[in-house]
Amino acid sequence: MTRILPHDHDYHFATRSVHAGQVPEPLSGAVMTPIYQTSTYIQSALGQHRGYEYARTQNPTREALERNVASLEGGTHGFAFGSGLAALDTVLKLLKSGDHVICGENVYGGSHRLMQRIYAELGQRFTFVDMREIGNVERALTPATRMVYCETPTNPMMHLVDLGALGDLTQAHGFLYVVDNTFATPYFQRPLESGADIVLHSTTKYLNGHSDMVGGLLIVSRDDLAERLGFIQNAAGGVPGPMDCWLALRGLKTLPLRMRQHDANGRLVAGWLSGRREITRLYYPGLPSHPQHELACRQMSGFGGMIAFDLGDPARARRLVEQTRIFALAESLGGVESLIGHPASMTHASVPLAMRSGMGLTDSLVRLSCGVEDGGDLVGDLERALEGSA
Ligand SMILES: *Cc1c(COP(=O)(O)O)cnc(C)c1O
Repeated sequence: MTRILPHDHDYHFATRSVHAGQVPEPLSGAVMTPIYQTSTYIQSALGQHRGYEYARTQNPTREALERNVASLEGGTHGFAFGSGLAALDTVLKLLKSGDHVICGENVYGGSHRLMQRIYAELGQRFTFVDMREIGNVERALTPATRMVYCETPTNPMMHLVDLGALGDLTQAHGFLYVVDNTFATPYFQRPLESGADIVLHSTTKYLNGHSDMVGGLLIVSRDDLAERLGFIQNAAGGVPGPMDCWLALRGLKTLPLRMRQHDANGRLVAGWLSGRREITRLYYPGLPSHPQHELACRQMSGFGGMIAFDLGDPARARRLVEQTRIFALAESLGGVESLIGHPASMTHASVPLAMRSGMGLTDSLVRLSCGVEDGGDLVGDLERALEGSA
């Protein structure tokens, strides 16, 4: 049976990212966790097995992934899913019809859609508020409120939520506190340390980091939540296959290396963009001009490769995203390769127009996911494309 490294927390992040949750395979001693491509496991006698009965319930490759990320987030239990949204679906199944959720207004478009188009239809209630102001969360409280859900930094506006302040508030009221940590990753930010009950990831993005699988994860350190989430994971069955778990596990081994390079490129590109006159607004929490830069420095140890900027001209924004050569025009983010996107027509098309305009998500907004290529080449690519789009 696999185990989290003994005395796990004696080791630093980079060591745990390579080793946590993994032991040499017992049959041959293979150092890398195999892809246990099986649906079932032999029983030596009726009811006698080695802890594995059926692969929806247990799979050693999936367990290695779950334990690895649990360790990185500073939690005790991890649960892997077939996508980030399947992970969110599991979180919402903790609630009942009539329960109320306060959610950040600028969450991932698909998260908003799952809440409003599926769970609201089933009787749950959602209020979306600007969580840059904790007072907005307090004002949205109702007697039925059971959960507070946030992302920080948000996608694509790069708004920050004060994780510690929200932790104090949720603790005072006994609400479940859920943080989508996809953008920052545990390398830069660990919400469980600020009082979060559940950390959610789209593994698809930085954790896997190579744009070659789709997956989700939930991390907790409360045994009661672990029991319920494990029950739902098995009962509803939104689990990932072992091949995808193995890809994510391999990606995680280089998470610290990749995040440092994403961060260096993000700072370089954002700094360069801040000197360009055609850019009317620039959103990157690592810049001192970002209104929440001080909070970013307090709760994050780096800022990553996500940048958004406004060109003030929708037609030019459309021309720009079609003219870069290194930045590929594509949905998604967090891979080693740089991507460029137009949130209003791509990732956030499912968010109602009134809500988009209310938060500055205009038709002239462009989003970058800076990869790990040479930073000078990335700046050169943007310079050529900006000039070509004029
Ligand atoms: C992509 C994403 C999700 C959804 O994850 P999938 O793996 O695409 O289902 C949720 N939250 C954030 C912040 C994301 O970027």
